[in-house]
Amino acid sequence: GNLLAAALRAPSAGDEGRVFATQVGRPDLTYGALWDGGERMAAALVALGVKPGDRVAMQAEKSLEAVQLYLGVVLAGAAFLPLNTAYVPAEIEYFLGDAEPTVFVCDPAALAALEPIAAKAGVAAVMTLDADGEGTMADAAAAQAPGFAAAARGADDLACILYTSGTTGRSKGAMLTHSNLASNAETLRDYWRFTPADRLIHALPIFHAHGLYVALNVTLVAGGALIFQPKFDPDAVLAAMPAATALMGVPTFYTRLLDHPGMTREAAAGMRLFVSGSAPMLAETHARWTEATGHRILERYGMTETSMNASNPYDGDRRPGTVGFPLPGVEIIITDPETGAQMQAGETGMLEVRGPNVFKGYWRMPEKTAEEKRENGFFITGDLAQISEDGYVSIVGRAKDLVISGGYNVYPKEVEGLIDDLPGVKESAVIGLPHADFGEGVAAVIAETAPGSVDAEAVKAALRDRIARYKQPRAVFVVAELPRNTMGKVQKNVLRETYKDAFA
Ligand code: ATP
Ligand code: MG
Repeated sequence: GNLLAAALRAPSAGDEGRVFATQVGRPDLTYGALWDGGERMAAALVALGVKPGDRVAMQAEKSLEAVQLYLGVVLAGAAFLPLNTAYVPAEIEYFLGDAEPTVFVCDPAALAALEPIAAKAGVAAVMTLDADGEGTMADAAAAQAPGFAAAARGADDLACILYTSGTTGRSKGAMLTHSNLASNAETLRDYWRFTPADRLIHALPIFHAHGLYVALNVTLVAGGALIFQPKFDPDAVLAAMPAATALMGVPTFYTRLLDHPGMTREAAAGMRLFVSGSAPMLAETHARWTEATGHRILERYGMTETSMNASNPYDGDRRPGTVGFPLPGVEIIITDPETGAQMQAGETGMLEVRGPNVFKGYWRMPEKTAEEKRENGFFITGDLAQISEDGYVSIVGRAKDLVISGGYNVYPKEVEGLIDDLPGVKESAVIGLPHADFGEGVAAVIAETAPGSVDAEAVKAALRDRIARYKQPRAVFVVAELPRNTMGKVQKNVLRETYKDAFA
C-alpha cells in the first residue's frame, strides 16, 4: 500500500460523488474527480520518468489541479516539493540544484526563464500549470488512462520535501515522511473535531506547511470539503463564511478581517472554528476578534520540520499569547540552550519536540540535521518558550532573535509588548545590533499607525521606568510598515541588515 495516499483517501472511499471543493467561477470538484485527476497526474509523471523516491518540484499558482498534482506525486511514490510562487529565477536555481527533481512544473509565463535553469540542474522534464489549472501538465494527465495503481510506500518513505520560510537564513529542505504527514493530519482532525460536515475556507498558499499539511491534509483525512480560494481576499472570505464551518489563517488574515466592516457576529454565526498560526498572534487581536465575532481564535504552533506541535484546546480555555498544549503523542520540553538540561515550569529556554510528526532530517544537510536532532529523538526547534504550571506553552521568540547586551539576555517580546501599548504604535520589532561596548545594543523599529504618530524620544522616555536599563532601546527607528515575508512573518534579519551601523 501507499501509507499517505491511503490515509488521505480512505474517508471518502465509497462516497465519490461527494463534493471535495467549491471555487467561485468553476464547477464543483467531487472526491471521485479529485482522485481520478490525481491518478492521471501520477500516470503522467511516471510516463515522464518519475520513479519512487524521486522528487517532483512545483512552482505554480494555487489551483485544484495543483492539489491533484500533489496527490499524483504521492501516488507515484515520489516526494512533492512545492516552491513559493514569489521566488525569482535566481532563487529557483538554488532549489532545483539542491533538490534535483525529475520533473519541474512551473507557470507557463515563467517557462522561458526557468527552462534553461532546469536544464542546468538536470531536470528531465519541465511542464506547465497555470492559475486556471491549464498547461502541459494538465494535458499530459488528461491523456492518461484512469485507474493508476499507487506505488507502495511505507512509514519512513519521503512524501514531501518542504523548504522552510527562510525567516532566519537560507531556506532548508525538510524531509517529511508518509507517517509524519499522515499521523499529524489525523491527530489534528481529532483534536479540532473535523468531520465530513466541515467546509473549510482555504485561502492559504499550498507551498507552505500551513496550507498543505494542515488545511489540505486535515480536510482530506476528515472527508470534509474545501471552499477553495486562490489567495487571501477579505471580501471573498466574508462572502464564503455563511456556507463555511472553519477558517485557518495567519495572524494577518485576522487583523485584515477585523478592518473589514462586514466582519460581524452575524457573518460568523455559522462558523465553528477559527485557527491561527505560522506567526505569533497579539493578545489584542485575540480580544478584538472575540469582541467582533463572539468566537475565540484557536492558536496553534508548528513548523515546516514538524508540522504541528501544540494547540490550544478545542474545549476549555484558549489562552491568548499561548499556543496551548502539546498535541497527543507529541512531547515538548524546555531546555537550557547552553547545557541542554531540562528546565522548570515558568523558565524560558529552548523548545525541543519529539513525536511521530518530527521530520527525518534536512535534505542533503547531514551536519545540520545532526546538530538539531538529538540521539534521543528530540528536535531542537530554535524557538525559545516557557511552559506554565498548568501546561500551556508560550513561544517567547526565536533563539536567533534573542539580544545579548552587555552579557544580559533581552527577550524582544517583552520590550515589544510594552512598546505596542504606547499610543500611535501599530507594532514593533526589537532587535540587537552590533555595539562596540555591549556586543549587541538594543534597538526598536516601530511601525506607526499614521505618519508622525510616534516620537522616538517619547518612546525612550516612556520605557525608562518600566524595564531595566539594559533592556531599554538605545536606538528607535520609526517606519510605516515592518518588512514581512509571504507567510506574514516579520523579517528581523532584514531589519538587522538595514540598521547594522546604528551603533558603529
Ligand atoms: P526558517 O526556518 O527558514 O528561518 P521559518 O522558521 O519562519 O523559516 P517555518 O517553518 O515556516 O519557517 O516557520 C516555523 C516558525 O514559525 C516556528 O519555528 C516559530 O518560530 C514560528 N511560529 C509558528 N507558529 C507560531 C505561533 N503560533 N506563535 C509564534 N511563532 C510561531
Ligand atoms: Mg525555522
